[in-house]
Amino acid sequence: MQRLVLTNASLLDGEHPVVAGSTIVIEGERIVEVTSGPGVPVPGRDDYTIIDLAGRTVMPGMGTCHFHSTYHELGTEPAPYGSEHPPAYLALLSHTNLMTALRCGYTTVVGAGAGQDVEPGVKEAIEHGLVPGPRFVPCGRELSTTGHANDAVPWYWGMPAAGAVRICDGPDAFRLGVREQVKLGAEIIKLFVTGGHGVMAPKARTEMTADELGAAIDTAHERGVLIRGHLTNKKAIMLAIELGIDIIDHCDDMDREIIDACVATNTFVVPSIYFPKVFAPFFPDNEAELARMYEILPEAEAAGVRLLLGDDYGAMGFPHGSYGGELHSYVEDAGIAALSVLRWATVNAAHLLGRGDELGTVEAGKLADILIVDGDPSRDIGVLADREPVAVLKGGQVVAGCLPTASTG
Ligand SMILES: [Zn+2]
Repeated sequence: MQRLVLTNASLLDGEHPVVAGSTIVIEGERIVEVTSGPGVPVPGRDDYTIIDLAGRTVMPGMGTCHFHSTYHELGTEPAPYGSEHPPAYLALLSHTNLMTALRCGYTTVVGAGAGQDVEPGVKEAIEHGLVPGPRFVPCGRELSTTGHANDAVPWYWGMPAAGAVRICDGPDAFRLGVREQVKLGAEIIKLFVTGGHGVMAPKARTEMTADELGAAIDTAHERGVLIRGHLTNKKAIMLAIELGIDIIDHCDDMDREIIDACVATNTFVVPSIYFPKVFAPFFPDNEAELARMYEILPEAEAAGVRLLLGDDYGAMGFPHGSYGGELHSYVEDAGIAALSVLRWATVNAAHLLGRGDELGTVEAGKLADILIVDGDPSRDIGVLADREPVAVLKGGQVVAGCLPTASTG
């Protein structure tokens, strides 16, 4: 089988600081050999394609784990949330946004709510090779209760909320809602538990009862899918952790007690601070909240909370493709080491998928989801945040950019 040999690479394996002069050998969809350090000879064989990376960085493909693939300028169309376009249009939009993420170096994308149940079909098309795309954990409509912040259809229209919303009231309805989403192909369930963080209801309002939350979480886990929640106030966050939710989205009230609970239960957190940062000038209250998040996030990181990348791209004024601002914000505003943020994007994302043995690091035996980057993002996050990688490989295949000129050994 043809082997791709990347020589003279600066290796960021996902766990450790960069090692110059490394060689990475890829056969088929997997990495078969990683030799770190200078002076490694490469055997001259004609089934080897050898590429001298001249010191460019090789790192694992990243994961973005709060992704709304059907959002584009959300809030500008005169239609209820998620009903702006017909399903086929949303499916094409979903794929367009997934390809944008892939070009930016995200070989894994995890859904956080989408319109009209199109994401599972888009995933199927990618898996069948009909279209290219990242590894994708598709989500469905966001579940919450009648009149919650995104239940935005006026009552006098005489129609239920649809689009990106599925209404459930009571534990049994949440069980049905989760089962229905799973039948439709969702591999992760999204709940709207509280207001706050960009939705119209106040942060202090919890829009699901403990019974409803517990029923949804238990049902998702019975059916073997992940479950996540829009959670911004401490009481609801602590309850969701206790009931076993997999991902806390936003976690605006994060404090020491929440950090300890997340560490004790291995709960993932997507802080998603870039969206409030961009909109802070319009919402003066955001400034104080953000300052608190910048202060607490290094503590969460140091304590071992499993933090993840991802944000509300596709909201009005917050386009898909602007993912780099998030990397800058964690490093420059929150003061977290670039290497740590890269670990959130790689190792932590792989663990969320339960695929830590196959993804997230550049190691022999793992799938060859890798990025070739001009410069060292662990020293200057801008080389990854401000431009697309030179090449993006998924399962050993170049899916975006291109390899530097090859020589056959
Ligand atoms: Zn969101």
